[in-house]
Amino acid sequence: MQRLAKSWQRTGVGVGLVPTMGYLHAGHLSLVQRASRLVGKSGKVVVSIYVNPTQFGPKEDFSRYPRDFARDAKLCRAAGVDVIFAPSNDEMYPRNDNGDFSTYVTEAQLSPGMEGASRPTHFRGATTLVAKLFNIVLPTVAVFGAKDYQQAAVVKRMVRDLNFPLKIDVAPIFREADGLAMSSRNKYLVGDLRNQAVVLSRAIQRVQAAVRKNSRPLLGTKLRADLKRFVESEPAARLDYVEFFDPQTLAPISKVARGSHMALAVYLGKTRLIDNARL
Ligand code: AMP
Repeated sequence: MQRLAKSWQRTGVGVGLVPTMGYLHAGHLSLVQRASRLVGKSGKVVVSIYVNPTQFGPKEDFSRYPRDFARDAKLCRAAGVDVIFAPSNDEMYPRNDNGDFSTYVTEAQLSPGMEGASRPTHFRGATTLVAKLFNIVLPTVAVFGAKDYQQAAVVKRMVRDLNFPLKIDVAPIFREADGLAMSSRNKYLVGDLRNQAVVLSRAIQRVQAAVRKNSRPLLGTKLRADLKRFVESEPAARLDYVEFFDPQTLAPISKVARGSHMALAVYLGKTRLIDNARL
């Protein structure tokens, strides 16, 4: 992959990278479309498909994460993707069983809250993998989804801090007709869990409506208590966190108003879903 990327680099074509964990859906494909548009006709689009073990916690769903390479490859071909980069664990973390992989990238400012608080080693794994992908694929632009808002902010900061020579583009969240944000993990939502999962986007709409109706800021603590009740009125739902924060710095906001950003994580049974939006 790196050899091919270097040959592209010599000819000066644009290269767009869309990092994914596979089991592709329309949200991923919207990122591919953006990458194609950004690099133009002469450019190349690479989709990486890799379920990265270092961004999963020991009790998380790494081993059962949905995988279907044949289906992903078909979708990529239909979407005009030039190369699928799907490395093995041995290629990405050689001889890791012996502790032979020991270099990690840690973003320290934006990572600790929200997803980082619930999943302590998650961002270290994600930034390390993304840094490796940037060094292997040598993209001129990489496209990430706003679905993982904090991740996009962390990656942007890493690129700025470590002088990676590329642009980061962030695509809007692609949703099902009823508002559920598309996610490979939605496959886990069998039976009534799928209906209950709409509660994440409904929670966002509830706060958006409240913020729009009130000219004065709303107290985050009150909103949080109301949302816990609202979310957990679904029998299988348990609120992991809801946070209100500055969209640039991710600093928590106690007085919530239009322009604040909101993110939440909810367990539906064993499945953990996330969503976010500008208020
Ligand atoms: P994943 O395969 O879940 O790691 O996601 C790969 C990339 O696709 C990440 O940048 C995600 O933010 C993005 N993505 C996942 N779901 C969506 C969605 N529903 N809308 C937009 N982007 C998404």
